[in-house]
Amino acid sequence: MRHGYVIPGKVYLIGAGPGDPELLTLKAARLLRVADAILHDDLVSEEILALAPPGARVQNVGKRCGKDSISQEEIERRMIDYARAGLTVVRLKGGDPLVFGRAGEEMDALARAGVEFEIVPGVTAVLGAAAAAQVALTDRRLASKLLLVSNHHSRDKADSAWVQLADEDTTLAVYMPGQNVAARVEELVRGGLAPDTPCAVISCATRREQKVARMTLGEVALAPTLGAPALLVIGAVAAERAMAAPDWAVEKIAAKAKPEADAEDKSEIALASAAAFESRAEMLFAEEISGEVAGDVAEESAENPFDAKAAERNISISES
Ligand code: SAH
Repeated sequence: MRHGYVIPGKVYLIGAGPGDPELLTLKAARLLRVADAILHDDLVSEEILALAPPGARVQNVGKRCGKDSISQEEIERRMIDYARAGLTVVRLKGGDPLVFGRAGEEMDALARAGVEFEIVPGVTAVLGAAAAAQVALTDRRLASKLLLVSNHHSRDKADSAWVQLADEDTTLAVYMPGQNVAARVEELVRGGLAPDTPCAVISCATRREQKVARMTLGEVALAPTLGAPALLVIGAVAAERAMAAPDWAVEKIAAKAKPEADAEDKSEIALASAAAFESRAEMLFAEEISGEVAGDVAEESAENPFDAKAAERNISISES
């Protein structure tokens, strides 16, 4: 209760994880339950937002929805205004707030305004993706480095920065692979990475509609579409677990996938070893999730063989 004067509030920059509400930290869940205002990104699921107390102002400030997009300055202004009004403010971001999440700008703005803030880490997308695809990111037999890169920032650059990223001993986690991923792949190959380097594309990791597709680096350029959000893992480790997958699992998944497969569907991607996995994966390297794409993905997932796979793996996230 506040009488006459306002006790300044505080802003919590919180990571919501890759989607599965159970991957939320206990601290994040506790703070969400007491928040007065929640400013969240598009990628944050309904199940997580449901933790907000009744009466909390819950606002989608995601920049991916096109027409209703809110400027970065406006987001910062709201955080500052709410905190100054004495509210407990949660700025909720997908994954971890400090990984490709504009938290740097937000921390600067809060510090300039003299608003107290705290960072609550979350499970970043590559960790959810690696778990989904059973990829040991730094399997010591195959890679000693893990590099988190985003294809987003390099889009307008004329230089070929990715040539220098080519390294057999490095696992590359590509956030926001985007539609121009072919150009980046070409740079990696020019830098000396073999076109048959294994890759995994993980879409909607840890969510009900999770999909995993495996291919070589050369095939990534040709890969048609992937449901957003998607993350690309490049490196020898990306194939490791698939090769070791027990036969029964391969057969089971292949049997489920076969009736769905359409030979004429150019979006078919050979998954894992040989043609053991088949997918009519509608996979779109769209780094920005749009309402339309999200809707399409949700519809697709209803019949997608990957759903069966997800169910087998006990991913129990209800539809949002
Ligand atoms: N702060 C976030 C990243 C924001 S950038 C984090 O730490 O994860 C958004 C990108 O993250 C997406 O374009 C996609 O590449 C990746 N991403 C987020 N959630 C994902 C998910 N559930 N599955 C796959 N990729 C995801």
